[in-house]
Amino acid sequence: MTDFKEARERMVEWQIVRRGICDPHVLAAMRRVPREEFVSADLREFAYEDTPLPIGNEQTISQPAIVAAMIEAAELSPGDRVLDVGTGSGYAAAVAAAIAEHVYSIERHAGLVDTAREILRRLEIGNVTVHLGDGTIGLAEHAPYNAIIAAAGGPHVPDAWRKQLAIGGRIIMPVGRHLHYQRLIKLVRRTEQDYDRSWLGEVRFVPLVGEDGWAAEDGGPRNAGSGFCRGRLGAIARAAGDWL
Ligand code: SAH
Repeated sequence: MTDFKEARERMVEWQIVRRGICDPHVLAAMRRVPREEFVSADLREFAYEDTPLPIGNEQTISQPAIVAAMIEAAELSPGDRVLDVGTGSGYAAAVAAAIAEHVYSIERHAGLVDTAREILRRLEIGNVTVHLGDGTIGLAEHAPYNAIIAAAGGPHVPDAWRKQLAIGGRIIMPVGRHLHYQRLIKLVRRTEQDYDRSWLGEVRFVPLVGEDGWAAEDGGPRNAGSGFCRGRLGAIARAAGDWL
């Protein structure tokens, strides 16, 4: 029987702290959220491996280190309202919700929405609401957001996200012309019109499929996304040939 608490502690030390992630909010959140609850029973023993895992519908739960790195980059603080695009298992939403005030999470696959809602309910995480729909048009009814975090890669930053971001708010998103390889970018809204942009590293995520993203027929998702590759956060690079 795996001791998940101990495995989680080891994961935080070896995969997160050693890669230079040091925001105390992020480390506390990673220590708190039980990743094993967000995967199917047969994958539980792998829950604290340094890798994404399949969650059905050809999607993956992100590698723990990328969740931590993206949330650190989003500079979340306790009063924040967050839009999480690509709920998947609900794990990243739960980690963000361990820091922020409320996480509005949106997912395009109904089956994943149902499962994520059920897991979050079971864990009594009350400050995440999961919405079914196309996240490329954002979620106007709860805007503005202090942070928008996307777990799927699109060809550009959707217009709606810029509009739905509070002044001072941050967007963390994989962007790239290739369906499966992207650059992780950070956009900070300085004023009504101005956004600062920076590049955080090269990554590999499943495609962001929707009205202002990729079309479903562009190729559809492959079961290998949600991992870091290289760049400033290159210590998260994986040696396996499946990665950049
Ligand atoms: N953060 C998730 C990772 C999920 S992988 C976790 O921790 O488990 C990315 C998810 O984005 C997939 O579930 C995929 O279905 C979803 N997705 C892709 N395009 C989307 C869109 N336009 N709107 C909402 N979700 C989308």
